[in-house]
Amino acid sequence: MRPDILNPLFAEIEALKGVGPALAKPLERLGLARVVDVAFHLPVSFIDRHMVDELILSDSGRVIGITLTPTDYRASGSARAPFRVIAQDKHGNTVALVYFGRNSAWPRKLLPLNEPKFISGKLEAYGDNLQIVHPDYVLPPEEAATIPAREPIYGLSEGLTNNRLRDLVAQSLSRAPDLPEWIEPSLLARKDWPTWREALARIHADPSDAKARERLAYDEIFAGQLALMLVRQSSRKRRGVPIEGDGRLRAMLKLPFAPTGAQRRAMGEIDGDMAQPVPMLRLLQGDVGSGKTLVALMALLNTVEAGAQGALLAPTEILARQHHETLRKMASGLPVTIAILTGREKGRVRESTLMGLADGSIDILVGTHAIFQEAVRYKNLALAVIDEQHRFGVAQRMMLAAKAERTPHLLVMTATPIPRTLTLTYYGEMDVSRLDEMPPGRQPIQTVVMAVNRLDEVVEALARHVEGGGQAYWVCPLVEESETSDQAAAEARAELLKTRFGDLVGLVHGRMKGPEKDAAMEAFASARTKILVATTVIEVGVDVPNSNLIIIEGADRFGLAQLHQLRGRVGRGQNHSVCILLRGGALSETSRARLALMRETNDGFRIAEEDLRLRGAGEILGTRQSGEAQLKIATPEHLSALLDSARDDAHILIDRDGGLNEARGQAARTCLYLFERDAAVGLLRSG
Ligand code: ADP
Ligand code: MG
Repeated sequence: MRPDILNPLFAEIEALKGVGPALAKPLERLGLARVVDVAFHLPVSFIDRHMVDELILSDSGRVIGITLTPTDYRASGSARAPFRVIAQDKHGNTVALVYFGRNSAWPRKLLPLNEPKFISGKLEAYGDNLQIVHPDYVLPPEEAATIPAREPIYGLSEGLTNNRLRDLVAQSLSRAPDLPEWIEPSLLARKDWPTWREALARIHADPSDAKARERLAYDEIFAGQLALMLVRQSSRKRRGVPIEGDGRLRAMLKLPFAPTGAQRRAMGEIDGDMAQPVPMLRLLQGDVGSGKTLVALMALLNTVEAGAQGALLAPTEILARQHHETLRKMASGLPVTIAILTGREKGRVRESTLMGLADGSIDILVGTHAIFQEAVRYKNLALAVIDEQHRFGVAQRMMLAAKAERTPHLLVMTATPIPRTLTLTYYGEMDVSRLDEMPPGRQPIQTVVMAVNRLDEVVEALARHVEGGGQAYWVCPLVEESETSDQAAAEARAELLKTRFGDLVGLVHGRMKGPEKDAAMEAFASARTKILVATTVIEVGVDVPNSNLIIIEGADRFGLAQLHQLRGRVGRGQNHSVCILLRGGALSETSRARLALMRETNDGFRIAEEDLRLRGAGEILGTRQSGEAQLKIATPEHLSALLDSARDDAHILIDRDGGLNEARGQAARTCLYLFERDAAVGLLRSG
């Protein structure tokens, strides 16, 4: 239950004066549905209003506030020319107040001749004359004091003015209660931070107040860390299944290569965790191509050797099928039953798989999230591996833990080289293994950037590549918010390429039916097709080592981490690989710099750091779509400066008062609710 003290903040936004249906729409577009959302809608910048009593040329370019007297109107002949009100300061200097638009009645009414008004707006030099285009404020002089010298500027949407939002913020602040302090007193003193309420008020009064912002950023990071630690605490209180395989299946594997040192280290860490009676919570990080699949297979075989079941969860159907294939190939000749379950397995096939899981005749299940649905019962699930997790959030991880009577060990694998701060922010409850070494013999991928108007040359290069026996991916541009048009773009591109390459062209996109998708993937994997036109469905994990050319259209529209993932589809075999990034004609400086970085480096960590700086955490982790709680206040800079203290603070608090029952614990609960990490509070009771 939410602490009562927060009720005024969590009231619907309609509780604020002046918010009716007309305003609710634009507010909703900004994600402002409750009073608390408005309070946390922090200003993005501010204007400093220069209060003066004389018009001076050298003030042009600044926003001024001044009392002026209108002396004349200048209507213009033509309909498109503006209407001008000439106004004078007390020294006789003049300025033209400029109003565009057909109707002069309004400025005439607003600015009657010879009546002094307080006027604010941006002063501009227009030839030798001064002008203010559409003043922000025109008020009776006695109301001048109501206009702040420093005015916060908010993110707005159509139908919502800055003034209106300022008023709503003021109302929400007056509803904000003083909250009990959750920050450790010595830290609070050392940082010289204001209280929560004061910090909020200070930022809205002065958006440049770094200290106040820092305090709120800290609160947000602290809430996240505390939530993850509660998840960890509750998970570690659960009983797990100690798993210690005897190595008999793993010894039977016939691998064409030896595991890298990094793979061996990760396997050792995983085996060590799984032998414990508390459930493993481990994140396996490794750049694309670092060989995570083998590590997963070893952990799964360890489980089967111990007489239990394992499951491998993939984010897409294509990837699930590919994993199923790969695991079966690698484990061929072993007495292990590996089955697949996705939304597509229906009817009798599905029934028999469900039965096999329930009676234990299936050892390893590969699939999409269908494998953790209600109807799926395992005999003794002891290990869950989640591949390419970036579409599975904390909430899903918690749900998974609830699936079995005894909590399965959890291994989450990610190819997104997440910067350390983000790992701790989103996976702080997990231990981490890193594959920081690539399998030997990999050649660096050569990346070139080309303008899309050189498409002909690209097609020529593709033709030479295919004639030389190579295969290639052709990834189609991401069309904003529309799967259908992604698909249309891919279909059109495939048609075009077919006129040149005929049946050698395959096509796969997210809207295709399962069997069609399989057929397309299979044809490409077995080299019956040479060119695979695809949407981003091939982004994660697809592995066809013979394909060593990838062409990515509309590259400037992808995130860097995503481009890196896509590029990782090549460079998997022994051959030299090339990635061609096709860009649009007019590029911003930033886009140019981003593509240059892709050309310059294959280092996933550098790319991710840059992406974090440019696009924020949600993009990297792919959590925007999944609705995972995101950082709204804390910037990457805040994270690097504050994460460690927030972590320590949360640690100390949990060590002292794991149930969050004492005064500071209760205050910390308030903080969790405030930042909507309250799912973690639920764990306190159930755990
Ligand atoms: P990812 O980490 O991206 O999931 P994969 O597991 O798909 O990487 O492995 C990429 C490729 O590297 C696969 O073709 C796999 O067979 C190969 N591979 C994995 N481990 C090794 C190794 N130790 N030596 C050589 N090749 C390896
Ligand atoms: Mg993989």
